[in-house]
Amino acid sequence: MEAGKTRKRLKANKALREIITQFYADSHRAKAEGRPVGWIPPMNGLIELFYAMDIAPVFPENWAPVCAAIGTNKKNFEYTAKRGFSGDLCGYFRNNVGYALEGINEENQPLDGLPEPDFLISFGAGCIPTMKTFQVLCDHFDVPVLRADLPQVAMEDIKEHHIQYAVAQMKRLIRFLEEITGKKFDIDRLRQAVAYTDEACRLWDELMSKRSTIPAPFSAAELGIMFVMVTRHGTEIAVNFLKGVLQEVNEKIARGEGVIPNEKLRLFWDNIPLWYNMKLFNYFEKWDAVVVAETYSAAWSLRMDPNKPLESIAYKTLVSYPLVSCVSLHKRLELIVKAIRAYKIDGAILHSNRSCKPISMGQMDIQKVLAEELSVPSVMFDGDHMDGEKFSMAQFQTRIDAFMEMLLAKKDY
Ligand code: SF4
Repeated sequence: MEAGKTRKRLKANKALREIITQFYADSHRAKAEGRPVGWIPPMNGLIELFYAMDIAPVFPENWAPVCAAIGTNKKNFEYTAKRGFSGDLCGYFRNNVGYALEGINEENQPLDGLPEPDFLISFGAGCIPTMKTFQVLCDHFDVPVLRADLPQVAMEDIKEHHIQYAVAQMKRLIRFLEEITGKKFDIDRLRQAVAYTDEACRLWDELMSKRSTIPAPFSAAELGIMFVMVTRHGTEIAVNFLKGVLQEVNEKIARGEGVIPNEKLRLFWDNIPLWYNMKLFNYFEKWDAVVVAETYSAAWSLRMDPNKPLESIAYKTLVSYPLVSCVSLHKRLELIVKAIRAYKIDGAILHSNRSCKPISMGQMDIQKVLAEELSVPSVMFDGDHMDGEKFSMAQFQTRIDAFMEMLLAKKDY
């Protein structure tokens, strides 16, 4: 197996490669045709608005895993370090700042890199590294910026007045986009985009639930399919792709075909994957073990109401971080306990992520709940979702090997 590359088994990966290529090609085409390109934070209602107004979105945060997968992250880290930023900051920040300030000028970049922004949207409500990334981008690129100071509220505490405030910010954003593009906003097109996202999320939930089947039809090694949930919400592309994956998975289930021939252990993964080393998910296969559920993949789905398009995108923007990474411990425990039961988990792997403090906080409490309430063993390892220098394969193997042997013994194998 090629270093760092995961062994994937779903045929849908061929279509996914085309979608990835097309996504970046679309933004370059927009730039070449003189249509404005906007850089935005991920997982918020801006994407439906952008697609409803034919604007090509660019997500620096989503570009970071691509850089990690292709290996350009190291150079971007160097560019950031040269400017005096600490190596302890989140790898997304270090990659994206280095890329925007210097890497973007390199020639022959994979996927042609990112087109420079014509405008920036800095919406607040995110974690500090994301907000700081946009602060650096806003200082660096001499382009119009729309800032909104959205509050960061735990999902379960969001009230109507938070939503109404976010709706008001969305209306400001619409006026800004109308001025930038010279186009009139059409609420029916937004309604359609919201409907596509809602359908994509419904399909995503159904797809993920299929992994509760024994043997599991696909593993975390296939997490790249999440690309459509980040970049193609609001479009039919995500809906059609997910329908195709679901059909393939249903056919596998009907044939009784699992990821591996003799599934013995079912694992849960907490925290962001190591984007530069996705083959780690195949490592468990030597013990006939499969990662069948994760906190991260579950976080990208949110049902939306096409009859309330503005409220829907406002709410999605408010929960963009409380849902994905800055999840309250209360909510995380609720999600994990539910998943452990639904996916019939034998053991949990917790990635203590140097880069992402918001997700890594509370992992000891999670281990306690797993052990005391569910009698599910867990193991924690130190790593980093973007920086391979902060991950030791030898330490990982030592810890995981012992853990897997214990799990097999517990199940009398
Ligand atoms: S949520 Fe975590 S991974 Fe994402 S930008 Fe913030 S610190 Fe980094």
